[in-house]
Amino acid sequence: MNAEILTVGTELLLGDILNTNAQYLATELARLGIPVHYQSTVGDNPERLRRTLAQALERSDIILTSGGLGPTKDDLTKETVCSLLEQPLELHGPSLEWMRGYFARTGRTMSANNEKQAMLPAGCTVFANAVGTAPGCAIRKDGKHILMLPGPPRELVPMFETGAKAYLRQFTQGTIVSRNLRVFGIGESTLESYVNDLVDLANPSCALYAKEGEVLIRVTAMAPDAGRAGALLEPLLAQLRERLGAYIYGEEADSLEQVVVGKLRRHGKTIATAESCTGGLVAEKITRVPGASEVFSYGVCTYANEAKTRALGVSARLLAEQGAVCERVAMQMAAGIRERAGADIGVGVTGIAGPGGGTAEKPVGLVYIALADRERVWARKLLLGRGGAEREYVRNLTSLHLLDLVRRYLSAPPDGLEGGMPVKELFADA
Ligand code: AMP
Ligand code: MG
Repeated sequence: MNAEILTVGTELLLGDILNTNAQYLATELARLGIPVHYQSTVGDNPERLRRTLAQALERSDIILTSGGLGPTKDDLTKETVCSLLEQPLELHGPSLEWMRGYFARTGRTMSANNEKQAMLPAGCTVFANAVGTAPGCAIRKDGKHILMLPGPPRELVPMFETGAKAYLRQFTQGTIVSRNLRVFGIGESTLESYVNDLVDLANPSCALYAKEGEVLIRVTAMAPDAGRAGALLEPLLAQLRERLGAYIYGEEADSLEQVVVGKLRRHGKTIATAESCTGGLVAEKITRVPGASEVFSYGVCTYANEAKTRALGVSARLLAEQGAVCERVAMQMAAGIRERAGADIGVGVTGIAGPGGGTAEKPVGLVYIALADRERVWARKLLLGRGGAEREYVRNLTSLHLLDLVRRYLSAPPDGLEGGMPVKELFADA
């Protein structure tokens, strides 16, 4: 049995409100192991609603609707469903009683059009509304099921929990278990070429979701119970871990900053940040994580050249000769802040976030990031420009690259941090 989610409401089509009901219902159906093949949205228009419903009945076994159960003229879901299925609407006594009580309890008078909400399809299963007026219901015809739920999320969610979920359990085909791998530092298309054969699998399945700068790999399996679904996932997860290695920075919901703070805490190491083009974003991300105070000592945001010299000891001559955006400046920033903070690790970043300020030699998106410990300092050059308005993109991606550098430094063994320069030599010819 496959399901379709049909959300009703002109405000959804206009983008006035976010369609959280569709997201909620999709997640819940996945948990129940009922595959969702379609989601559709239609305005409060009886003709289009009717056509959308007819189409849904052709391609789906179970249809869940949200919205259009209210008392006003534009709330037409029940009426349209009943007319399409040639099923009469009947007054449902207990619902009317409940509504009378609801209005009395909330000190309001019930208007005549509220009675419309107690009209339900003949022979339906009623879902009581514990927090509002409109009851929901499920109607069955020719082996198809239509479940009608109210629009307001604060009504839909409890009704789903207490009524619709039990109704839907009869269609459960098993349990779906999903696991998420989080990947950074590899583009979606490159990643796809690594895992090409795996994204074609059916059960377990593997899907890639690109977010800004990172990719989420979600693997999903369906089996009669969670244990067997988990067992189906293990070989696939093992393959992904083997192929992607250090590109995987975390599993489940970890963010890069959570992973970094966790590693710093486990290693008992402290970090200090010196930022230019990211304006403190790296420090902001680190301090978002509870417990950051154990590992973060201090951070500075040095925008002007003079500030880089004064606060971090970056060579004034270097700045004058090569400009603020160069590898050596990033390295001196990292080493300078580490020493001044007395931290184990210092990081530095300098670059051109755009949209202005780029040249042929130093284009927008050119960024240098660096990491220093007591002995050595490492740098990386990033080219993050996309040729458009990208200031926020460059800043955010830079902060992620810098966090990823720290993560790789703290991996055992450190990943991709061969070489580097002794800190002693860093200021030698300055
Ligand atoms: P209705 O049951 O159509 O009268 O919906 C009443 C209210 O519920 C709307 O004005 C929205 O604020 C909210 N609502 C309706 N549909 C959704 C949806 N799909 N997701 C989130 N909120 C919704
Ligand atoms: Mg509506």
